[in-house]
Amino acid sequence: MAKAELMDYEKALEQFEVVIGLEVHVELNTKTKMFCGCANEFGSEPNTNVCPICLGLPGSLPAVNKRAVESAISIGLALGCSIAPTGRFARKNYFYPDLAKNFQTSQYDEPIAFEGAIEIEVPSGNVYPVGIERAHMEEDAGKLTHVGGATGRIHGAEYSLVDYNRAGVPLIEIVTKPILGAGAEAPELAAAYVRNIREIVKAMGVSDARMERGNVRCDANVSLRPHGAAKLGTRTETKNVNSLRSIERAVRYEIQRQAAILAKGGSITQETRHWHEDKGATSAGRPKSDADDYRYFPEPDLVPVQPSTELVESLRAKLPEHPADRRKRLQAEWNFSELEFRDVVNGGLLDQIAETVAAGATPQAARKWWTGEVARLANAEDKDIIELPISAQQVAELASLVESGKINDRLAREVLTYVLAGEGNPAQIVSARGLEVVSDDGALIAAIDQALATQPDVLDAIREGRMQAAGAVIGAVMKAMKGSADAARVRELLIQKANS
Ligand SMILES: [Zn+2]
Repeated sequence: MAKAELMDYEKALEQFEVVIGLEVHVELNTKTKMFCGCANEFGSEPNTNVCPICLGLPGSLPAVNKRAVESAISIGLALGCSIAPTGRFARKNYFYPDLAKNFQTSQYDEPIAFEGAIEIEVPSGNVYPVGIERAHMEEDAGKLTHVGGATGRIHGAEYSLVDYNRAGVPLIEIVTKPILGAGAEAPELAAAYVRNIREIVKAMGVSDARMERGNVRCDANVSLRPHGAAKLGTRTETKNVNSLRSIERAVRYEIQRQAAILAKGGSITQETRHWHEDKGATSAGRPKSDADDYRYFPEPDLVPVQPSTELVESLRAKLPEHPADRRKRLQAEWNFSELEFRDVVNGGLLDQIAETVAAGATPQAARKWWTGEVARLANAEDKDIIELPISAQQVAELASLVESGKINDRLAREVLTYVLAGEGNPAQIVSARGLEVVSDDGALIAAIDQALATQPDVLDAIREGRMQAAGAVIGAVMKAMKGSADAARVRELLIQKANS
């Protein structure tokens, strides 16, 4: 992959206006697939959740999943969309080995939801309106695994495997209108938007919303135009970016790459691009087809979806609290300062903290662990925090072990690393590894005596009020106890000894 020339980010923004557009695919968590009765299940043996319908065998007839339609309507309503009283499915024709039907059943000119809007807050506190053009129903394709190459992509692979379990899984594709005016914050806005969609679908319970499993995937369109130009520039579409960090990085990269080309008088190729997390760069995919090339035509095997007003209104009544309202409520309930709360929101940790508090931790303890040590560990591993194998229950348990004095902060940080290594829950780890704080005064006094043996003058120093002399003994005791002593208690015992 040739290294592309990049323009300095600030300079790119001085010269060009950034326009982004986001397409988010949300995989629904219905029990069965979109048009057949096969299980919609992640992680089954390859090609076990398949039938003549999702394999596209001749003569098979699809039927629309009612629950999926309801989920689509709920998502549309949550995004402020109008719901179409009638909507047809269409066939989008293309040949692809992971789509056995040779067409994808989708919605084209009659999406179920359209014309919505949502407000998105970025880390700086700025709020941007994002227009929603449409949210439509479609089915997912199967999964290809390219084996034997260095990159996992088809180029250079020796052979490829196909798993049709995912073929026919219900998807909602949410498409924004062109988003202008975010300037330097366009990358953060893209990530914050996807985080909001994730929060919304998760709160509604219509998707597992796990990005690392591909439940929520984002295609990021980026184009530039000179400031003041009326016409939009040619866009690229970076496909299937699957973490919030990657979305932000990919958008920033495309801005810098396109600016360098345009500044030299070059032109942007309308194409899809792939994001490479390891290289921090995008590479060219395929030329982007226009809709005409797909030869859309109405699906003759499915009746139009015609949700009644009663159904739409009953779904509207069941919508969860709007994310912005929920944020306001939680900030008040938790009694967090603006700064504390912004840290939580920017870290994408609202759900984690809510769940940790529900599991028994105090809001401050939950905040401290998630935004502190857990975030640090995620950063060190270059991961989104939600990808770490640690649950809210585990963090709550850790906080309660600290609260009860069973372990101190230092031991808790150590316990965290073992939780991430898969050793079990904090309490199990503490007992299996013997990590409890030593509260037995006898053991502490023995360790103090041992430390004093090599520093006999310390007791005199303490008697004379030179307390800093105690530090060396406390340090030696902590070291001897491998950090499992309560430093405050050691200090108390030492002073008692000096004054006895
Ligand atoms: Zn099936």
